[in-house]
Amino acid sequence: MGEHLTQELTQEKAVLVGLITNDQSEDQAKEYLEELDFLAHTAGAIAIKHFTQKLPYANPKTFIGKGKLDDIKSFITEHEIGLVIFDDELGPSQLRNLERALECKILDRSNLILDIFASRARTAHSRTQVELAQYQYLLPRLTRMWTHLERQKGGIGMRGPGETQIETDRRIIQQKIALLKSKLEKIDKQKSIQRGNRGALVRVALVGYTNVGKSTLMNRVSKSEVFAENKLFATLDTTVRKVVIDNLPFLLSDTVGFIRKLPHQLVESFKSTLEEVREADILLHVVDISHPNFEEQIEIVNKTLDEIDASEKPTIMVFNKVDAFSYDKKEEDDLTPVSKQNISLEEWKKTWMAKTGHSIFISALHKQNFDGFRDLLYTMAKDIHAKRFPYNSFLY
Ligand code: GDP
Ligand code: MG
Repeated sequence: MGEHLTQELTQEKAVLVGLITNDQSEDQAKEYLEELDFLAHTAGAIAIKHFTQKLPYANPKTFIGKGKLDDIKSFITEHEIGLVIFDDELGPSQLRNLERALECKILDRSNLILDIFASRARTAHSRTQVELAQYQYLLPRLTRMWTHLERQKGGIGMRGPGETQIETDRRIIQQKIALLKSKLEKIDKQKSIQRGNRGALVRVALVGYTNVGKSTLMNRVSKSEVFAENKLFATLDTTVRKVVIDNLPFLLSDTVGFIRKLPHQLVESFKSTLEEVREADILLHVVDISHPNFEEQIEIVNKTLDEIDASEKPTIMVFNKVDAFSYDKKEEDDLTPVSKQNISLEEWKKTWMAKTGHSIFISALHKQNFDGFRDLLYTMAKDIHAKRFPYNSFLY
């Protein structure tokens, strides 16, 4: 299903639409659209223009207002654009109304994320997980697909056969969902047996927002060939490697990156992948310090960790990409108000050392401060190892 969409999207021109609402400032909305742009790029589309609109909340019928809808319509007509992507999840009737008004393909953020996950799923496990999420997303939106057919037929046969068709489709999809669920249960059982068989080795899990450098760090630490590229969700499946630092062995796992507004169907079906995180002894929370919104990203990751009961684990905050960090120097007179833009790396270090003793600033790509990172990880892993094997440490 997903692969199809990705192929269709290749080189496709698109416009992006987001809202500035009561609980989403203008800067935030712009930043979200930047991220959506990146997602669109990852899926193979080129975003030609970003549209934003100030509204207290989304219009229940068309997401945006009438005037903005007209603007977008004339823009896409003039530039021959066949795809409009909305930053939030659209309801079935919003989708239908927008399709009617804009007469082109409409996607929302969830849709796009599901599609990217689908095109990147490698194992049977993650393919099943994504497929389940896709069907769950599709089920309430079936009417919309029918409307599509309706239009092709010139609007004839609005009721009778249409209803029957939808009912049949719905039943098929419900059966499919049940099948995928039981398949996942079986895989999950096998997985948990596998995890049990790994014995009592100290387990370290990389967590963090997507694209912060988790896979790069995994590569650097374990010298394994994990997929790393500048696209969102480059890794989907959990990769586990045995790593040894100074005779101390432990397991390091790289997991799926967290992202804002992740479709809930996806979180639900990826529970077992997140199990790896839940069962870890130590978390390495990787942060992209060069990203303007890194603090918000930390919050989103913490919230997700909280949801899976993993927020109390010993955690090292790994501030990555120090090589790409930049800031505006404060003026000599010191009258410039302190803002995120003019806090130096040294000041960030002090702030985070005060908040948590376990933080380190590195560049995974250029192996900056790698010894410091290794030492910190070693010290923490050794503590846990010593507690677990009080009489015979380092036997492996
Ligand atoms: P993940 O999604 O968290 O696994 O992130 P990746 O490891 O795939 O990295 C995402 C992008 O960030 C890639 O283009 C990496 O080359 C880049 N990257 C990773 N670490 C660093 C770093 O220390 N400095 C810089 N400048 N870029 C980095
Ligand atoms: Mg990765």
